[in-house]
Amino acid sequence: MTDSQHNDVVVLGAGVSGIYQIKRLTDLGLDAIVLEADEDLGGTWYRNRYPGARFDSESYTYGYSFSKELLDEWHWKERFSPQPENLRYLNYVADKFDLRRHMRFGARVVGMSWDEEGRRWHLHLQGGETRTARFVVTSVGVLSIPALPEYEGLDDFEGDAFHTYWWPKEPVPLAGRRAGVIGTGATGIQVIAEIAGQVADLTVFQRRPNWSTPLNNAPISEAEMDGIRARYDEIFANCASTAGGFEHLADRRGFWNVSREERVALWDRLYETPGFALLAGNFPEIYFDEAANREISDYVADRIRRRVNDPAVAEKLIPKDHGFGTQRLPLETHYFEAYNRDDVHLVDLRETPIERFTSNGIQTSVAHHDLDLIVLATGFDAITGAFDRIRIRGTEGRLLSDKWRDGPSTYLGLLTHGFPNMLMVAGPQSVSGSTNFPRAIEGGVDWVTALLAFAYEHGHTRLEVHAEAERDWVEEVKRIHEGLLLRRSRGWFTGYNANVAGHGAGRVRYQAYFGGAPRYAQFLARAAAGGYPRIEKS
Ligand code: NAP
Repeated sequence: MTDSQHNDVVVLGAGVSGIYQIKRLTDLGLDAIVLEADEDLGGTWYRNRYPGARFDSESYTYGYSFSKELLDEWHWKERFSPQPENLRYLNYVADKFDLRRHMRFGARVVGMSWDEEGRRWHLHLQGGETRTARFVVTSVGVLSIPALPEYEGLDDFEGDAFHTYWWPKEPVPLAGRRAGVIGTGATGIQVIAEIAGQVADLTVFQRRPNWSTPLNNAPISEAEMDGIRARYDEIFANCASTAGGFEHLADRRGFWNVSREERVALWDRLYETPGFALLAGNFPEIYFDEAANREISDYVADRIRRRVNDPAVAEKLIPKDHGFGTQRLPLETHYFEAYNRDDVHLVDLRETPIERFTSNGIQTSVAHHDLDLIVLATGFDAITGAFDRIRIRGTEGRLLSDKWRDGPSTYLGLLTHGFPNMLMVAGPQSVSGSTNFPRAIEGGVDWVTALLAFAYEHGHTRLEVHAEAERDWVEEVKRIHEGLLLRRSRGWFTGYNANVAGHGAGRVRYQAYFGGAPRYAQFLARAAAGGYPRIEKS
């Protein structure tokens, strides 16, 4: 193996996390490279080009905070910026800091094995190439492995059919076409609202409805952007102080200490406030107190009833199997009003399941739906999916996918015992899946960078977390999870995903940490203090 195939650090993935990670590592003077499977950078924002794809974090809380110059230069045009603009932003960042020269595209890592003697990872790329690295930082994304449904005849359909993640770069004609959308998560809800009225006819195939509240998007003028720029320090400090990593402040008056009228007055205001206001600006009791959760759920259900003309359709759109805020909340723009159109139809798959795809549509138990275009908004093999796609062999040849078969086990979502020198940004059991993503990953990247700087400074060539430290973290993850009503929900947050083979329907995988951003940040700080005491270094 020649020297050119070895790096101090290999970063896997050039999405939001990988871009920042390579910036920090190269600033440190390390010989680092990003290997990206796609043909260009951007990750989530490179892939998800479906109609309606946009942030649901306020744009100015989503951008990187590390460069004042960048903050001063970039003008977010909308409060919740759309995918093309987000991809432009990531390209702008990469070009501004000349990061592309550290990135290799079309480089899909399919295997990684730990070489104990050489204290390095051997990376195996699709196509047969191998490389080595002292350290590997995974930034492979939490929602980067799309999950396809397993319907009979899926390949028989002769029209266009795309999973939203693989939506083509070329414009997909909508006008005059009969479209079907399967899935009503955050993605489906965005697509449905966007294409209703653009296509000739739209049928939504819904298995379980989701709660959803208004995004309340708006343009950001030059003057407003100036105000935002002047406030950036405060904005990021606010985000760091709240559980979700947003600016919305929870109402701490006590759910039961105020009258019902006062609660409704708050909710009326939050419903009109942009972003996750109704979720994050609410009384924290809604997350753990059944009665409080029922009351807010009833409130949101009434809002849906007021917006949907047909009461029978409204009832189908109201979740009955989980309370408000116990699954990842999709935000919407005129989503419920779409169902008031004559050319939008709702098929409830719990009443009339899909039997198969046909050459020209979808057959349910009662009817055939003629379609020209099928949108599969069926979600992802979330959080651990991207790890499972790489054969990662740690000490004694153990496979990570075996270790994590019943669910991930990590230290702070950043390291896992038995896999030395592998660091994870946005890893399982971190807050990356459960809070404002870039805010979370900046903390993760900074921590990883500091650990690597420490290792190089002290001449350590092997880092491995103690098994006991990992056990303690998994206990913390479970304890927090079990205290919240979301423990019973079936969304991707909890790892319950009936759509992903091998996960075992109904089994919780404890794959995200719900202790909130500030608590997590405290754990990170304590883990680093005194020279990373719970990491074995040599
Ligand atoms: P998701 O939340 O997992 O939703 C998948 C949907 O597909 C669910 O409604 C699910 O129904 C349905 N489904 C899955 N398999 C099916 C099948 N075989 N037949 C019928 N329906 C099926 O996935 P997502 O909507 O792509 O969202 C994932 C996450 O991506 C979001 O929660 C969010 O974190 C992120 N996201 C963010 C944004 C943003 O920031 N603006 C936008 C989009 C997505 P069940 O509920 O019954 O399983």
